[in-house]
Amino acid sequence: MNFKLDKITRENVKGLRPYSSARDEYVADGTEMVFLDANENPFDNGANRYPDPHHRNLKYALSERKGIAVDRMLLGNGSDEVLDLIFRAFCEPRIDNIITLPPTYGMYSVLAGINHIDNREVLLTQNFQPDVAGILKRTDENSKILFLCSPNNPTGNSFTEDKVVELLENFEGLVVIDEAYIDFSDKTSWTKRLDDYPNLVISQTLSKAYGLAGIRLGICMASKEIISILNKIKPPYNVNDLTQNHAIKRLQGEARIRLEIAEILNQKKLLMKVLKHVPFIEKIYPSDANFILVKVDDANRRYEQLLKTGIVIRNRSNQPLCEDTLRLTVGTPEENIKLVMALKAIN
Ligand SMILES: *Cc1c(COP(=O)(O)O)cnc(C)c1O
Repeated sequence: MNFKLDKITRENVKGLRPYSSARDEYVADGTEMVFLDANENPFDNGANRYPDPHHRNLKYALSERKGIAVDRMLLGNGSDEVLDLIFRAFCEPRIDNIITLPPTYGMYSVLAGINHIDNREVLLTQNFQPDVAGILKRTDENSKILFLCSPNNPTGNSFTEDKVVELLENFEGLVVIDEAYIDFSDKTSWTKRLDDYPNLVISQTLSKAYGLAGIRLGICMASKEIISILNKIKPPYNVNDLTQNHAIKRLQGEARIRLEIAEILNQKKLLMKVLKHVPFIEKIYPSDANFILVKVDDANRRYEQLLKTGIVIRNRSNQPLCEDTLRLTVGTPEENIKLVMALKAIN
């Protein structure tokens, strides 16, 4: 393990002082205060004040739930912003590179493009596991980030612990594990291993299992040293007040979230059974997530047929190792019945 945070941080970021906002200086402590510091409109409409730039109350709620200290946590406008901040803190445009493992989530490559960073792709193996030797062979001293998506989108499987450990121990940049689907999985979150690996960064989101894609809330967890670098470049008001308050409210109804997840997993199991009997479905891939990847005889044709019945799914055929595959999100019981009826009706 030869990881040095200072070595992989961009020079300009090292010297940065974060923007100091009016609300940084004063923390509400319950006393009645007169706020004349931020040029806001003083008339209350529920959103006339700037949001807390440090997202304290929401972080406390998340910290309690996830068992991660507040200073090891950064929140963003969806995981998309969190991932972009990681690029901007550690990857020097036109010089550095990242490693991604297709077939996987498309945003890593989009963000690499936006930040002018070379994206080195090392395909997953036939059973959708990381090719550790291949990854380390493509790595050089400018390889700043390795993206591991586990459970992986669109394949649905999780990466085995031994492969991830081997990468954490041998990759000298950051290993970002995208756990967008972890709450659907019975595997342990890598957040439990933060103490063991100084190069480990975990990204989670409220967009999937927590049912809050519309409010945009992404969570980054890492060492407090990494988090404090990201905090320096984060826009001060990146998570708005409506989002913070809505998330806190939702987290208070933990029992309901657990029920929804259980129902989704139960529906997934039922769907898996039914899909086995659809003649044009050739293979159903195992899934630790809330979607199912299937291989069909002719993905374009089946996609169009379903669309005509009003059902929108994702055609993943243009991804490597995914020829003629479709990705189906598990819906409500009613939606899944519609999907099954449509699958049975087309031929
Ligand atoms: C859906 C998804 C996300 C979520 O991104 P947000 O910006 O938080 O909505 C992140 N990673 C993966 C792999 C996903 O599939």
